[in-house]
Amino acid sequence: MITRKSKEQIAIMRRAGRVVAEMHEACVRATVPGATTAEIDKVAREVLDRRGARSNFLGYHGFPAVVCTSPNDVIVHGIPGDVVLEEGDILSLDCGAIIEGWHADAAVTVPVGDVDDESRRLIEVTRRSLDAAVDQVVEGNRLGDIGAAVEAVAVAAGFSVVREYVGHGIGTAMHEEPQVPNYGPPGRGLKLREGLVLAIEPMVNAGGPETRVLDDGWTVVTRDGMRSAHFEHTVAVTPEGPEILTLP
Ligand code: MG
Ligand code: MG
Repeated sequence: MITRKSKEQIAIMRRAGRVVAEMHEACVRATVPGATTAEIDKVAREVLDRRGARSNFLGYHGFPAVVCTSPNDVIVHGIPGDVVLEEGDILSLDCGAIIEGWHADAAVTVPVGDVDDESRRLIEVTRRSLDAAVDQVVEGNRLGDIGAAVEAVAVAAGFSVVREYVGHGIGTAMHEEPQVPNYGPPGRGLKLREGLVLAIEPMVNAGGPETRVLDDGWTVVTRDGMRSAHFEHTVAVTPEGPEILTLP
């Protein structure tokens, strides 16, 4: 079922979104050579505690942390642990928060120290693909316009878009209908209307689009071992256009 949210409900989601943005800021500061991904998870937990928010990641199908930490060839769903970050790595940080039962969800990919030009370009293109997708979150547009915008930016840069994992509606659950693919033709699918709130999350690979899940049952990696970047915002359709709810 696809639900549209009232202005009041969106206002609560905006508060959850601010907590997520604050978690990102803290995690990004902690993403330095020599840090472990478990330390980054701890920093995110401290923000949740300080803001009186709950995690929508912790315990989700048994997920053991509040942040997904996905370095280099890990696309999404990396589990924080004793992995030590090294200069030149890239790291996707994906987390969410719940306030008064309402969810927000967002991701960023950041360089660890100084990274090579191709990694920097991968990060920048993925960020731009999300920006282009957000621009499509306008009443009267269709769901397909979002995926088409992501794909156009990624493919023009010589990268590929992951197909097995997609964005989603979000509200009183982290994952609601509809699914929001990062590919496909424009002008098709659900018509966007006021109150629809979507988590849009392009996953862009430097090599091919194929994915594989590691034996831990969570960690999704590129099959060719090349790097992947991931950005996400929770975005509401409003009469004034797209409103990103996961901003500081
Ligand atoms: Mg996310
Ligand atoms: Mg998401």
